[in-house]
Amino acid sequence: MIQFDSISAPTPDKDGLNAAYALLNRQLDRGDLGGALAAWDGERRSFETWSALVHLRFAQNTADAEAKSAREYADALAPEVADLETMFKRRLLADTDREGLMRAAGAHAVRLWETDVTAFDPAIKPDLEEESRLSARYSELLASASLSIGGQTVNLAGLAPFAEDPDRAIRHEAERVRWEFFSDHGTELDTIYHDLVQLRHGMARKLGFSTYTPLGYRRMRRVDYGPEDVARYREQVVTHVVPLVARLLEQRRTAHGWDKIRYWDEALIDPAGNPRPAGGHDFLVAQARKMFDGMHGELGAFFREMDGGGFLDLRNRPAKRGGGFCTSFPTVGMPFIFANFTGTHHDIGVFTHEMGHAFQNHMSKNLPNVDYLWPTMEAAEIHSMSLEFLTWPFMELLVGDAAADRFRRMHLTAALSFLPYGVCVDHFQHEVFANPDASPNERHAIWRRLEQHYMPWTDHGDLAWPAKGGRWQAKPHIYGSPFYYIDYTLAQCCALQFWSRARRDPKEALDAYVGLCGLGGSAPFQELVSAAGLISPFADGALADVAREAEAFLAG
Ligand SMILES: [Zn+2]
Repeated sequence: MIQFDSISAPTPDKDGLNAAYALLNRQLDRGDLGGALAAWDGERRSFETWSALVHLRFAQNTADAEAKSAREYADALAPEVADLETMFKRRLLADTDREGLMRAAGAHAVRLWETDVTAFDPAIKPDLEEESRLSARYSELLASASLSIGGQTVNLAGLAPFAEDPDRAIRHEAERVRWEFFSDHGTELDTIYHDLVQLRHGMARKLGFSTYTPLGYRRMRRVDYGPEDVARYREQVVTHVVPLVARLLEQRRTAHGWDKIRYWDEALIDPAGNPRPAGGHDFLVAQARKMFDGMHGELGAFFREMDGGGFLDLRNRPAKRGGGFCTSFPTVGMPFIFANFTGTHHDIGVFTHEMGHAFQNHMSKNLPNVDYLWPTMEAAEIHSMSLEFLTWPFMELLVGDAAADRFRRMHLTAALSFLPYGVCVDHFQHEVFANPDASPNERHAIWRRLEQHYMPWTDHGDLAWPAKGGRWQAKPHIYGSPFYYIDYTLAQCCALQFWSRARRDPKEALDAYVGLCGLGGSAPFQELVSAAGLISPFADGALADVAREAEAFLAG
């Protein structure tokens, strides 16, 4: 069994990288395409393993000076590597016959490289470094939050249990404390984002695009759909999901006996209190082991490897970056799950969401190309969000017998309620990059307008910062990963299809899921979707059908 502590990768430097690429080019000079591709793949796996380790260590302790300087070194080196990689991709695309290259490297890899080379030029190297610096500053600022609530000091992640407390006054206090932090740092948050928008717009102009949007799509490596498809999907959400979520909220308002639904009420989904995990860290890890063993042999064996090898860091602690993610070390084919347990139902997501990413990555480790280890993000989120539904029959293990049905209802309600917010985050970014010179106040006004369109029920009450349009500033993707958010909403449409299939035939659904994980990133989004027997979210009716079935389930 591989141990996380035993993983290491040499720290690369510019000279070493230049020498390695010079060797690769000499292999191509000799006409050894296969050898060059194999050696290049090895170089990239080694670099990605090192980079993943450096970024993970910084996330584990953002206050560690050594980890921070290693991250800064990696961020400064990344544009140099992008430069070398892009030059090599350009040469491959220019020098070799396209058919032969596709046979040797894979057709989809070639399509990805064709996209990549249009999204980079040495002229933007300093911009990329600055972009990393600004994104890191945002992460540090949020990680620095030290908030007092209920006689405790917590970080932003630690607010979660208070934010869904059955006591309305405590929920209000949690949101008051959260948004006071954002208000106190509002000027800096506005400035960081303003600088990021200007920087990204400038990069797009240097690369010959009129705005950042087409560049943003290329950086997300989207090769089979564009902003028009996404805009049509957002309208599907408005037509089929927004009224449904409004009905569900109205039912909750009546069930709770509230005069109206305030912002701080939305997180309390179950009138009896949101179901919580039936135990803490050690309990959940042990129960998850039983769950995966019961689900599928490969999932069970893989979870044992993750746990036994130290590839899980799940406890919340000071200075640890917020949120959860899955990263991987391509030289060893093992992923790593990072999370912040809060004692709420969000902890379950580590085992049902992040494990989906991890399992896919593991199932794809023997694919012949490092580009295929992860699919593009909207496809990657199918693996994670579908596992959230496929684990439903085992929820008794994690939340206890009495709460399992309530947990499933809460999860489905949350999955539907997420869609309007998710497309709002996406639409906001399209408007931001269409108007790069907007002032911070104008951006807040854009958010407020879109929030009314997608979430007309929103009532921030006396929370001044979100009431003036600042809610988006709590969403790290908007700062660090532009245009990465519609992905969750597209994947949710696919995950709901897996939910529907599993209701009819759980084994068929699970086998199709495992098969999809094995395909990794070997094809673009819509091809992967159809290979798994799913309907593309862009197809008319795909979202309407699952929304109708979900509403019927919740009414039952
Ligand atoms: Zn995910």
